Amino acid sequence: MPALTDYNLSSLEAQLSGWDIRASHARRLLGAFYRNTGEIDLDSLELGKMLRAKFNGDLKVRQSRILTQSAADDGTIKLLIGFDAGGSVESVYMPAYRADRAAGCISSQIGCAMGCDFCASTKNGVERNLSAGEIVEQFLHLSLLARRDNRRIASLVFMGMGEPMLNLDNVVAAIDRIAHPMMGNLGWKAITVSTVGIVSGIERLAQEKLKVSLALSLHAPDDETRAKIVPTNRKWRVAEIMNAAKEYARVTDTISTIEYCLLAGVNDSDEQAHLLADLMEGFRAHVNLIPYNAIGAGLSGATYEKPSQHRVESFAQILRGRNVITHFRRTRGDDVSAACGQLKQQLIQLGA
Ligand code: SF4
Repeated sequence: MPALTDYNLSSLEAQLSGWDIRASHARRLLGAFYRNTGEIDLDSLELGKMLRAKFNGDLKVRQSRILTQSAADDGTIKLLIGFDAGGSVESVYMPAYRADRAAGCISSQIGCAMGCDFCASTKNGVERNLSAGEIVEQFLHLSLLARRDNRRIASLVFMGMGEPMLNLDNVVAAIDRIAHPMMGNLGWKAITVSTVGIVSGIERLAQEKLKVSLALSLHAPDDETRAKIVPTNRKWRVAEIMNAAKEYARVTDTISTIEYCLLAGVNDSDEQAHLLADLMEGFRAHVNLIPYNAIGAGLSGATYEKPSQHRVESFAQILRGRNVITHFRRTRGDDVSAACGQLKQQLIQLGA
């Protein structure tokens, strides 16, 4: 049975017409649903008998619920969200420095097939793609947390479980609903889609002209190192990925982010910092240095460690000395395993 999040305005209008119900109810229904962050009292809306009856077996309000909620000392909250269709994902709520804002991190797949060696999300492979509605519902759960915290979700990243480019139809449909002024009402520019470097997906997303930002999980500036920690590099090489990302930034007029998880003795040398700076030439992008968050052994059996503070600073200094805008990603929620690379597939099914 479909839920309200499975529809945009035109598809709900078409659905209602197909049921011989006035299409104009669609705007009222979706407007009230999203205005109330997915919490809707059907009895308070004048829906008409026929539409009201559809909620008894043909249409439902929601298709997910929060199974567990873990709060970290820094205010980060990790949600385990279960879906009626089966499976669950983790989404993360992060209060911002500004007292009225928060950031959200959502998943696009249950699990991930990409096999990055420093990431927990891939340890059980991929179970399935999330539907557009399931992606939208993560945003709504996070928005509700924000509302209760007197904040609003001001930025949203697709950096949870999964590779968004391998579920692009549903990701694009979900973004359309999340950004729509009558629905999620989050501007395009507040949304970032992260990819490990699926070139065909980057090219397609550029054609969509959504003006969402791109984050490229590069993690190494040379093919030899990258292939060891990011298996997709065997298919798409660094030069090809960087060209696609640069073209994306040009076509969409957005500023991209290069994500770089520093691993001691693997990708943190001065030489690699210079190689990364070379790659950044002529690219409207900044580098985000991510401290490695421990996940135990990766799929290859290797274990990794954070570089020393001295090494991290030396790496950053080289980049900054070469005029590359460089930030450090603050570690959030690591005490509840909500930090980057720590989200993992939970074998909890709804109703189980
Ligand atoms: S880093 Fe991203 S693409 Fe790589 S395995 Fe983890 S979730 Fe998948």
